[in-house]
Amino acid sequence: MTLLQSWVTSANTAETDFPLNNLPYGVFSTASLEARCGVAIGDQILDMAALEEAGLITLSDEPVFDVPYWNDVMELGPDAWETLRASLIALLGADAPDQDQIAPLLVPMADAELHMPMVVSEYTDFYAGRHHATNVGTMFRGAENALPPNWLHIPIGYNGRASTVVVSGTDIIRPNGQLKAPDATVPSFGPCKRLDIELEMGAIVGTSTQMGTPVTTAEADEMIFGYVILNDWSARDIQAWEYQPLGPFQAKAFATSISPWIVTKAALEPFRTSTPEREFDLLPYLQEPGPMLYDIDLSILIQPQGGIEEMLARTNYNQMYYSAAQQLAHHASSGCAMNAGDLLGSGTISGAEKSERGSLLELSWGGKEPITLQDGSTRSFIEDGDTMTLTGHAQGDGYRIGFGQCTGKILPAIAFP
Ligand code: CA
Repeated sequence: MTLLQSWVTSANTAETDFPLNNLPYGVFSTASLEARCGVAIGDQILDMAALEEAGLITLSDEPVFDVPYWNDVMELGPDAWETLRASLIALLGADAPDQDQIAPLLVPMADAELHMPMVVSEYTDFYAGRHHATNVGTMFRGAENALPPNWLHIPIGYNGRASTVVVSGTDIIRPNGQLKAPDATVPSFGPCKRLDIELEMGAIVGTSTQMGTPVTTAEADEMIFGYVILNDWSARDIQAWEYQPLGPFQAKAFATSISPWIVTKAALEPFRTSTPEREFDLLPYLQEPGPMLYDIDLSILIQPQGGIEEMLARTNYNQMYYSAAQQLAHHASSGCAMNAGDLLGSGTISGAEKSERGSLLELSWGGKEPITLQDGSTRSFIEDGDTMTLTGHAQGDGYRIGFGQCTGKILPAIAFP
């Protein structure tokens, strides 16, 4: 696969996140247009509601693009997803006959505000990065007991909050919570002092299952509509006090950010890669018939208030031990109903090297090894005014499948009570 040529010339570069090969799905508005579905192409957004109204694309008897979410398209199913992508490639390809009709339906990305691309039905977060789980386990339990005994057999997860999943660019208020220092006898209540990010991918479930009905990993892979970059903001001090015995609660519930463009499975197809060799054979329901991870280059950046942006770490989604398809198959294995618009966080993505760690907790080793920034200041965790940005792309031959950015600025905690 090489760069596909479009008549939208800004899409025909090796550097753009959004060549014709990509065509990710988002929701945008402008000063004159209400929020609606759009497709990114180069530095433009194709107004899908207008395209549909002009009769240039028809996916269903009812309009599906004049709403601020892609859930209606998801529910049409994989055949419709394929039809949609083929239609878009035909309409935006270099030889498209209808260019004159479509060109007026393009909106410069610079003039648009991006919104959540879907209604998040429910949000589940996993813990599927072996290096991350080993690093965190080593810090909390020692190297010998770093991985819990179930970890190599089960994609471990917890049910998170859909209510606080927000789109990139949304400011994040530092959470308050119960804190207890190891040497304190009683807890106190106040602003989190160990605020962190978690670099993750988010898989978006596109089709639903019936309660009581499990799915195979192959069926689970078919059900996935696309992927986004996800930041599972984490309050480490709140987490340390609250997490036993039922896992994270308020430490994760205050915010989760996602990148604004849903990159489709079809766009990522050339970048499929296998999960690693297994120490123990997985149970049959978790075994994959083919490669279900993706080679996606991921970075973490920090920008202090009024300062310069710099990279803190760089890693790859191919480091995960479990794929989203395995996580989804496991999620449904008990008979748990899954719905279009469900969001599955991959778990923090860390590589083997220090420069590849996907959280500040790991990068600063629990605060013992603070990171020195270019301005000379240090960070163990996030300060008020810091903007944290996650970004990523799959690198093809002369083109890239970009995700855009997943960014958020930290605002001071609210004085409470
Ligand atoms: Ca997480």
